Amino acid sequence: MSMADRDGLIWFDGELVPWRDANVHVLTHTLHYGMGCFEGVRAYATEKGTAIFRLKEHTDRLFDSAKILGMEMPFSKAEINEAQRAAVRENNLKEAYLRPMVFFGSEGMGLRADNLKTHVIVAAWEWPSYMSPEARELGIKVQTSSFTRHHVNISVTRAKANGQYINSMMALAEAQRGGYDEALMLDPQGYVAEGTGENVFVVKNDVIYTPSLTACLNGITRNTVFHMARHFGYELVEKQITRDEMYIADEVFFTGTAAEVLPVRELDGRTIGEGRRGPVTERIQSMYFDVVGGKQTLDAEWLSPVA
Ligand code: PMP
Repeated sequence: MSMADRDGLIWFDGELVPWRDANVHVLTHTLHYGMGCFEGVRAYATEKGTAIFRLKEHTDRLFDSAKILGMEMPFSKAEINEAQRAAVRENNLKEAYLRPMVFFGSEGMGLRADNLKTHVIVAAWEWPSYMSPEARELGIKVQTSSFTRHHVNISVTRAKANGQYINSMMALAEAQRGGYDEALMLDPQGYVAEGTGENVFVVKNDVIYTPSLTACLNGITRNTVFHMARHFGYELVEKQITRDEMYIADEVFFTGTAAEVLPVRELDGRTIGEGRRGPVTERIQSMYFDVVGGKQTLDAEWLSPVA
């Protein structure tokens, strides 16, 4: 089914509009130059009803992205939080993927932005698992990409900016053409950065390693893993990681709102560890699903009910 041809409502500049009417003009600025920012958020069914996971952190990151890009937000954080709750609630979704997106409209063309207006949409729909259920258990096959992750000073990588994803899409397409599930991108110095839409973690001798924020997006799932690692008493180290360190790791896993916690079983044709989900990944993954589903609480503020 086309993403444009669905029943339901989309929050568009302050109003809930019918899904098929949530349209923009072909001269929409962001469509031409990629200047915009977005979030990927999930809502999960819990015993107390549907709740959005870490809504505050996602909204904060959206506003940070807009600030970095110099886009003035025309709504408050409280309004954008309520827009996200409404997009889930008014579409009667029990579980949902949410896409808030901030873009320039068709008020003008050319690279100057001072005559443009910032618009915001929030869409929500059912989007079960990014990978197959087997992948959650058996892990995925990954290839180191020939596409380098953006330098911090080229497209300001702290922002989750629309245009950044040209790079991710090319890396993913290259990996998929080669028969892999995902790509691993290296930073401009050649150290491990992240997946096309995921952060990456490496486990060696029960210590968990991950690249520092100069090499990757400030992932909210990444931060959730930090809390879980602390809960389990694992040492967690942020550092520069090399590609060969990954080859000889005990376990590797990806994290992201869409991907959740995903084991990597193979990188560049080398089997990682036992070639399936390892014990540390399994503990983290299992706790992640308990936390997002409200079965276990690490921080009472993390679940925002939509009702
Ligand atoms: N890195 C990139 C490049 C991403 O697009 C994402 C998805 N937002 C992530 C990491 C993971 O971030 P999060 O856990 O906040 O979804």
